[in-house]
Amino acid sequence: MSKVLGKIENGTTTTEGRSATTIGLKNESITSSTTNDSTMHAVIHDDYKEKFLDGLLASEFDETSCISRLQSHLYRKSSPHKPSSYLISKLRNYEEIHTRCGPNGKAYNTIMAKILHSKNIKVDDASTCKYLIWTPANGLGNQMVSIAATFLYALLTNRTMLVRFRKDKQGLFCEPFLNLTWLLPEKSPFWNQDHVETYQSVIEKEKANKNSKVDFPSSLFLNLQYQANFHEKFFHCDDSQALLIKVPLLILQSDQYFIPSLFMTPFFNKEVEAMFVEKDMAFHHLGRYLFHPSNSAWRLITNFYQAHLAKADEKIGLQIRVFNPISTPQEVIMNLVLNCTIHNKLLPKVIDMKNSMSTSSDKNKTITKAVLVASLYPEYGENLKTMYMNKPTDTGEVIEVYQPSGEEKQKFNDNKHNMKAWVDMYLLSLSDVLVTTSLSTFGYVAQGLGNLKPWLLYKLTNNETHFPACVREFSMEPCYHAP
Ligand code: GDP
Repeated sequence: MSKVLGKIENGTTTTEGRSATTIGLKNESITSSTTNDSTMHAVIHDDYKEKFLDGLLASEFDETSCISRLQSHLYRKSSPHKPSSYLISKLRNYEEIHTRCGPNGKAYNTIMAKILHSKNIKVDDASTCKYLIWTPANGLGNQMVSIAATFLYALLTNRTMLVRFRKDKQGLFCEPFLNLTWLLPEKSPFWNQDHVETYQSVIEKEKANKNSKVDFPSSLFLNLQYQANFHEKFFHCDDSQALLIKVPLLILQSDQYFIPSLFMTPFFNKEVEAMFVEKDMAFHHLGRYLFHPSNSAWRLITNFYQAHLAKADEKIGLQIRVFNPISTPQEVIMNLVLNCTIHNKLLPKVIDMKNSMSTSSDKNKTITKAVLVASLYPEYGENLKTMYMNKPTDTGEVIEVYQPSGEEKQKFNDNKHNMKAWVDMYLLSLSDVLVTTSLSTFGYVAQGLGNLKPWLLYKLTNNETHFPACVREFSMEPCYHAP
C-alpha cells in the first residue's frame, strides 16, 4: 500500500484550508479504544522523531510558514540512515551562528561595512562573524548540489551561508534556518562580485612573488566551477584552507558537488567523517535539512501526488534527460528506456490482445504501477502512455503514466520553469523505484532526497545503442564529476 495511506496523522493542523488528515488515514492503533497510554506515547514519540527527521530539523519552526517541512515524512518511507549526533550538534550550532550573524542584524551591518572598507582584515577570533556567499551557475540540480556542498563548507568553517537568489528562485524553497533569512539582501555590496579580488589572482600574485605568501584580502571570490585548467587554483588543499579560513567574506560560485573533496582535505577530514559516519549520506542529510518545498511548491507536489500516485501499488520515477537532443533521436532514447525498464522487470512487456486473457485473468488482484516521467520532452510520457493504454501487459499489471511537465527546452532565469523542475525532482524522490539518466544532477537531487539507489540510464549523445541500457547505482550520493 502506498505510504501515505498507511501513515499516522494525529494532528488536526489545518494548513491553507487543507487538513493534514486528508493526506493520511488516522492510525487505527491511535483511534482504537483498546489503545493503552504507553502504545500511544510510543506512536507519538515515533511520529515526532520522524517529523523532525531524527533530530536533523530544529523543532521550533512555525509550522504554517513551511508545511512541507513537517509533512514530508508522511510521503516517504522513513530513512534508515540516521544523522550522527555530531552532525546534529553542528547544525544547532550553525543555527545559532546564523541567528547572530544573519542579514540585517547589528553584527552583520557592522562587519559588512568593515569588510567593504578595509582591505586586509583577518579574522582570528572564532566569535567574529564570517560569511560565505553562494552564487548560482547552471541548472537547478547543479545549483542544489552545489548549495549543499557550500553549506557543508560553511559548517566546517563556522561561516554564515547566504544565497544569492534572483527572482528565478523566489518562492521555490522555505527558509531553512530558524529566525533569519538565508537570502543575501539585494542591496548588499557583495550581490555583485565584480569588485572582489579572485582567488586565482591571489595565487597568481604569489607565483609572481616567487611563492612568498601575499596578504589575502577581506573578501575573495572563489570560482569552483568545473574548468579544465583548474589545477593551479586548487582550493581543496590544506595550505589554501589555512589562509582562506582567515578571510572574513568568501563568495563561492560552483555548479559541482564538491563534498567528496572536503572528505579528502586533511584540514577537514576528521570533522567530516564525524559528521557523516556513513560517508555517502552527506547529500541525503544536508539536502533534507536545506531543501523544503515552499507552500506553493508543496501544493503542486501534493496535489499531483494525491491525484495520480497515491493509490498505485508501486511508484516508478523515470527521469529522461537528453543532453544532446539534436544528435540523439527520440526513438533511440525510447528504446534505451524500454530496454532498461523491461529487461530489469521494472515495467512489464505489452502483449497481443489474444494472449492477454489467460495471463491476466489468473491474478486475484490487479497490480497498478504509476510511472512518473520527468523530461523536458512530453513525447516520452505520451509514447509510454500510449503503449500501455493500447495493449495489456504480460504480467497483468496496469501501468499508468503521468508526466507533470514538458518544457521542451532548458530555460534560464525563469521562475515558473524552475518551479516545474523542483516539482519534478521532488516527485521523483517520492518514488519506490527510480530510473535516472547518468551524470544528471537533476537525478542526483531526487535520489538523495528520496534515499533511492537509481537505475542509471546510459548517457547517449548520438544515434547509438548501448547494452546494458542501464546499471544499478551503488550509492544514493551525487557523483563527484570533477575530482
Ligand atoms: P543536469 O543538467 O541534468 O545536471 O540538471 P540541472 O537541473 O542542473 O539542469 C537541467 C535543467 O533543465 C533543469 O534545472 C530544468 O531547468 C531543465 N530540465 C531538465 N530536465 C527536466 C525535467 O525532467 N523536468 C523539468 N521540469 N525541467 C527539466
